[in-house]
Amino acid sequence: MVIRCNRCLYWSNHPLGITFNSQGICSGCQVHEEKDKIDWQLRLEELRDILSARHLGSKYDCIIPVTGGQDSFFTVHYAIHTLGLNPLLVNFNRTFNSKEGIRNLAKLRTAFNADFRQFTINPNVAKAVINCTLANLGSLNWLWIAGQTSFPVRLAIQLNIPFVLWGAHQGIEQVGMYSHFENVEMTRRYRREHDLMGHDENDIFEFDPNFSPDQIASLSYPTDEALLKSGLRGIYLSNYVRWDPTAQHDFVSKTYGYGKRRTSRAYSYFDNPDCPAYFGLHDILKQAKFGYSKATDQLTREIRHGRISRSNALNIEKRLISAKPEGIREFSNWLGVSVASINGLLLQHSNGFASQVLEGSWFKEDFRGPISSKVFNALGGRNYLDSDYQNIGKGI
Ligand SMILES: [Zn+2]
Repeated sequence: MVIRCNRCLYWSNHPLGITFNSQGICSGCQVHEEKDKIDWQLRLEELRDILSARHLGSKYDCIIPVTGGQDSFFTVHYAIHTLGLNPLLVNFNRTFNSKEGIRNLAKLRTAFNADFRQFTINPNVAKAVINCTLANLGSLNWLWIAGQTSFPVRLAIQLNIPFVLWGAHQGIEQVGMYSHFENVEMTRRYRREHDLMGHDENDIFEFDPNFSPDQIASLSYPTDEALLKSGLRGIYLSNYVRWDPTAQHDFVSKTYGYGKRRTSRAYSYFDNPDCPAYFGLHDILKQAKFGYSKATDQLTREIRHGRISRSNALNIEKRLISAKPEGIREFSNWLGVSVASINGLLLQHSNGFASQVLEGSWFKEDFRGPISSKVFNALGGRNYLDSDYQNIGKGI
């Protein structure tokens, strides 16, 4: 049975894994309570101690992976102005960018006294990988997460840089997978199991043997031997700084002119403005698979920080979760697939929640495919029939 937290909006089927205490409060809410008990000044001193280690001959103190999101601005600001570090800023270009994201990244490149490196994967390879992971994992974000979590790590080893400084640890922030006091650092295992949904770049060849190792090389993560030899450590700033994305946004918006992006299904417009598909196809795939959307994450965050009541949040969630997603046609055009195949994806990867999406009035108006929701429900929410659907991910 799927149950829901008595304090926030998370369900027990959260993909990162979640537990509940006897009062029905989820592990994410319990670990969030630590934020009001931790001596953050002491944590800052611990962080300074950790980061005081230097590698001989390294020009930079750390690498900071940046996407142009508000957390990138905050992390870079904190590293330079509070910790006094000389970071190298590193970006894995997502290749499907919003104009707000391009603008934010351009600001970030020039707002700080820091060097910047970017890697852009061959767009045809990017599209082929996205098609592959959409078909096999129901994920359009996999490529970008794989690139964003591997390129900075490879580069750090190559340039003999001692640290990668990440922003938040999502497993801690969302579901309380670990306590802040465990000082969790980056690992290959977390990347594979949670960031990449249990499948790293090596699995791409199993999904589609037509990929060549050269095409996937830019997503490869260093071997454990190389990591050990290099002494590289990946630190999460959210273990040492009271993490509050909304407060961070207010700060970087005033200080650096960070821009948000209004979207129909978002509660907070500052999250993920760089990806035009985030609140579009990505969000309805998430809803079809798990029964909730990104707005649920955002409202949960606001409940935990005491800025909205649970009952208000539930009403807002109801409205946002049935709102029409934006940009699906643009994304399918860019990717070179039909909207019918997008419909098929929703059916193929649903965990019994697709009816929420298929019954939405926006879907009936704009995206009605050859299978009606009644037929879909009669099929138990699992199968699809029409020939369109059999070519999911094949670029039809
Ligand atoms: Zn909770």
